Amino acid sequence: MSGKVSGVKGMNDLLPPDSSVWQHVEQTVRELFARFGYQEVRTPVVEDTALFVRSVGEATDIVGKEMYTFEDKGGRSLSLRPEGTAPAARAYIEHAVANQEPVTRWFYMGPMFRYERMKTGRYRQFHQIGAEAYGASEAAQDVELMDMVVQLLEALELKDISLNLNSLGDETCRPAYQEQLVAYLQAHRDELCADCQARLERNPLRVLDCKNERCQAVVAASPDIQTFLCEPCRAHFDEVKRKLDLLGIHYVVNPRMVRGLDYYTRTAFEFIASHPALGTASTVGGGGRYDRLVKQLGGPDVPAVGVALGLERLCLLLASEAGRYAAPPDLFVAFADAAAAEQGFVLVSRLRKAGLRVEFDPRGGSLKSQMKRADRTHARYALVLGENELASGKGQLKPMQGGEPIPVALDEVAAALVTR
Ligand code: ATP
Ligand code: MG
Repeated sequence: MSGKVSGVKGMNDLLPPDSSVWQHVEQTVRELFARFGYQEVRTPVVEDTALFVRSVGEATDIVGKEMYTFEDKGGRSLSLRPEGTAPAARAYIEHAVANQEPVTRWFYMGPMFRYERMKTGRYRQFHQIGAEAYGASEAAQDVELMDMVVQLLEALELKDISLNLNSLGDETCRPAYQEQLVAYLQAHRDELCADCQARLERNPLRVLDCKNERCQAVVAASPDIQTFLCEPCRAHFDEVKRKLDLLGIHYVVNPRMVRGLDYYTRTAFEFIASHPALGTASTVGGGGRYDRLVKQLGGPDVPAVGVALGLERLCLLLASEAGRYAAPPDLFVAFADAAAAEQGFVLVSRLRKAGLRVEFDPRGGSLKSQMKRADRTHARYALVLGENELASGKGQLKPMQGGEPIPVALDEVAAALVTR
């Protein structure tokens, strides 16, 4: 067989220089999340399908329409993970982490899979940065997570991202709200899209999350969940707001913001960007409290709260900065002849061992073509090695952005570059 094989639709290759933006975001996450005490977990990309059916919810878009589900050779139904919270909770339960410590803070980064209609910021393989905190039901834990995201966005110098906040109540107060919501939506049934008419029966809260404009118009005048909250949920929400105020974090209460997953109770939040680069995919991340999930998945009764951010969307916001995060070589070494190439090869290896970023052209060729190559790499300095340099043990560091050459002893190149 011959011919070109293409990548899978909706699944992207990440190439330089864009990968440097990703590395910058990932590194910023690692440094920042460590300050908050969050440690990394890595779970498999494939899970038992039942995990997502029982957590994210059968009637959600994610499980109902978007999951990559297949049977393995042993006849098991497996799915590529569409999100990271359920796998983390599964691991938390499976390893009995609750018995080892009362409060657990985890983060993860990795690919997620959803069979969605593709557009800018919406792909079939995408990547999430997520954080989960188990063991504390206090508002301080919710706000710590939001603070961590706010500090991350600040560290990435991302502006104009607003925090939307809501409380979804709990099993005490949500049923009354849901009853009113259904009654209201039934009265406006004809104005809803076909999907939402089905959601109305199976999972009415999902209607609030529909992206269809006509549905959104109906939703805008739907009952306000805030007026239904029971006393403990009200108190929790007030405390979340008070602590956000304490930290000077701005937010907007949006009583019609629910999230696309079934497991949330009480706090739900989303970070929404107004940047045109994202088009309609403006939510860079979201999260909330899921106090029932761990128990529901067969674990102990442990409250939890989590957040997930879309790496592609963060990187789209930073795309114009690609050049800024690429790390060009400190030095490019060019060889005038075969003898210089031989000795220079050893010098290059030594300089790399000393911690410098050094490149050369393994094809050799004319000095002119090697210097052209040096230009392309955006190296800070170039060093030409020839007969004279090898005989005298001295060379010249040529600043590639212009300026006078700097005389240097060949065995002091590393030291000379480090001080510059
Ligand atoms: P949206 O409302 O944009 O569909 P969502 O509510 O489905 O997002 P979550 O499940 O909360 O998204 O996932 C958290 C984040 O992951 C989103 O805010 C987004 O940044 C990112 N994300 C979700 N789905 C995709 C996708 N298909 N492609 C790229 N990023 C995605
Ligand atoms: Mg979605």
